Amino acid sequence: MAQPTIFQRIIEREIPADIVYEDDECLAFRDIAPQAPVHVLVIPKRPIKSWATLDDGDAALVAHIVLVIRNLAVELQLEDGYRVVCNSGDDGGQTVDHLHFHLMGGRPMRWPPG
Ligand code: AMP
Repeated sequence: MAQPTIFQRIIEREIPADIVYEDDECLAFRDIAPQAPVHVLVIPKRPIKSWATLDDGDAALVAHIVLVIRNLAVELQLEDGYRVVCNSGDDGGQTVDHLHFHLMGGRPMRWPPG
């Protein structure tokens, strides 16, 4: 069997994380290597590998996560704006094989990203 990802272990509370939000469907915690003053990861509790492996039945879950991110941005006082990133696959820069959305803010973001 495949080893659980680091995010699965955070969900299971096997390793610590700075959790900022949780509900039945998803978990949000601060990135261990923040790239902005606010850098939170939002993940589904179900072990979906990546954006690329989402199926049509995940539409409601993804919509839920999108709205959780909207609410978190308000709670984390990102009223000046923020960026949401989902890296998918090797070329996308994905390093953890558990779908996750980066919510980053607290400074102006540059474009294009690297
Ligand atoms: P990605 O490169 O899009 O797959 O992003 C993975 C993110 O997970 C990176 O920003 C890492 O800093 C972050 N990360 C890895 N391990 C942990 C951890 N134990 N707790 C919080 N964030 C983590």
